[in-house]
Amino acid sequence: MKKNKEMSKNTKRSLIERLNAGPVICAEGFLFEIERRGYMSSGEFVPMVSLDHPEALTNLHRDFQHAGSDIVQAFTYNGHREKMRVIDKEDLLESLNRSALKIAKEVAISPLGSEHNLMAGNISNSNIWDAKDPKTHLEVEKMFSEMVGWAVDEGADMLIGETFYYAKEAYTALKVMKKTGLPSVITIAPMGENIMRDGVSIVDTCKELEQRGGDVVGMNCFRGPETMMPYLKEVRKSLKCHVAALPITFRTTKEHPTFFNLPDNNGCTCHTPHKTPFPTALDPMQCNRYELGKFAKEAYDLGINYLGVCCGANPMLIREVAEAVGLEVPASKYREKMSSHFLFGTHKRIAKHQKDYRDKA
Ligand SMILES: [Zn+2]
Repeated sequence: MKKNKEMSKNTKRSLIERLNAGPVICAEGFLFEIERRGYMSSGEFVPMVSLDHPEALTNLHRDFQHAGSDIVQAFTYNGHREKMRVIDKEDLLESLNRSALKIAKEVAISPLGSEHNLMAGNISNSNIWDAKDPKTHLEVEKMFSEMVGWAVDEGADMLIGETFYYAKEAYTALKVMKKTGLPSVITIAPMGENIMRDGVSIVDTCKELEQRGGDVVGMNCFRGPETMMPYLKEVRKSLKCHVAALPITFRTTKEHPTFFNLPDNNGCTCHTPHKTPFPTALDPMQCNRYELGKFAKEAYDLGINYLGVCCGANPMLIREVAEAVGLEVPASKYREKMSSHFLFGTHKRIAKHQKDYRDKA
């Protein structure tokens, strides 16, 4: 038993080895997808699913794995002490984290191919970081440290710190992750002012993260392909380390660079009861699969090898990203085959009276 374990450990390549060899796919976006599947309250957004419905979380991991995700990211986003206090369930903090990590590990060590996936521990924006209040910085560091400790305990192969909109909060996350010696991915999510909330530019934040030892540095969340790509181009040019690109799947614009303030002007006849379509009525602004594929290909051609999708991700979009950069994944078996469609197909058995009706359908 032990020997097998050691052998599989030896044959599993590290994150950096994989990135040096080509594209690595990471599915994110668990929050939106688990909510969409009916296992989370929107707005509150606490991943109680690892305790309440572990089978639903396992299923989503398996679906992403089947679609080509090389990394199984433990769903501990927002599973931090502060959020648990907000929902009055602080006593469940550790069990929630450990359960999410165990579920991710189990999926990672039972891959569909021969090589194990990488299980990633995850920390993220704390929401209490206040640039002007050093007391909050200590508190955030403690929150990160306990979560990273549980991730190491449960056998994480790597760590992901994500969705930081304060530069210094990202530096703190990286500092905590670096102490473990595990490969560290750190991605930032600047808000609509196109600058970190403590005044550091996007590119300077990424440069600093590289200087501080980030193995992979980049951007995730808040921004769709259109408003993330311009910054990624600059980041890729300015950094030597591997770069990460994980946009949301919504059509953000120059006027509205993030999904928080996208306007509700999409022919909608039943408007959101909230101030903006975020987060429950974004559906009409969803990018199609080709837009995500185009983004991934463009990023990869720039030299960005760590690719994925954040909020709005679903297995089909992960497959699209993987295939856009030349990968064949288990779900490729089910890629579109329009040639067999009853109206639009080209197969010789498609009846002429159906083909002739296409424009009226
Ligand atoms: Zn996201």
